Amino acid sequence: MKILLWDIDGTLLRSGRAGHRAMNAAARDVFGLQEAFADFDFGGRTDPWVLDLLCQRHRLAAPPERVAAFYAVYLEHLRRELHNPNAHTCAGIRELLNHVHSSPEITQGLLTGNLAAGARAKLEHFGIWHFFPFGAFADDSGERNRLGPIALERARHHLARVDLRPCDMIVVGDTPHDIACARASGARAVATATGGFSFEELAAHHPDLLVRDFSDPQPLLEFIRALG
Ligand SMILES: [Mg+2]
Repeated sequence: MKILLWDIDGTLLRSGRAGHRAMNAAARDVFGLQEAFADFDFGGRTDPWVLDLLCQRHRLAAPPERVAAFYAVYLEHLRRELHNPNAHTCAGIRELLNHVHSSPEITQGLLTGNLAAGARAKLEHFGIWHFFPFGAFADDSGERNRLGPIALERARHHLARVDLRPCDMIVVGDTPHDIACARASGARAVATATGGFSFEELAAHHPDLLVRDFSDPQPLLEFIRALG
């Protein structure tokens, strides 16, 4: 059994910068900051990591109730902002998710820097939430590299199989952070150039498989098959 763990933004979908605008709106509503994330690189970062960086940059105190307020406002704006003409699933993703869904030897879940509620909002918007019975989210840890072992535990529980090993996991993402996360977890790293990084930039980080996109599902499926 192989566990395919998907990143969301830039990998499964592009939100048309819905997340960016929702973060800006939350920073405005909760902290009174205008365009707080104007020059911010979100790629591969978890939501708590983003909030930490914001607080450091502006020397803001973020007690738990303010953090909760920030996320609540963010989610409210996110759900609305997803309705924009530039939001779309990445090439080939729907077909690939469907295919893997019916493959008895592969189980898929999420490994994402999104909060679980944000992940759900994004994936439900595109009608693909049901493909992911488990996942590791930013609620579990703000450090992306700690999410791999959590995803493995969830997979073991979901499948009732304690014999699953880190090397049975395949982490798919669009940034060097995703590749680093796979390495930190003992998982295989698959990178796709459908997000903010080019094929050449990702190649420099030596993922186990690198694709331009998933319009052809075969490279990924063959890669998984070859793992045995
Ligand atoms: Mg991503």
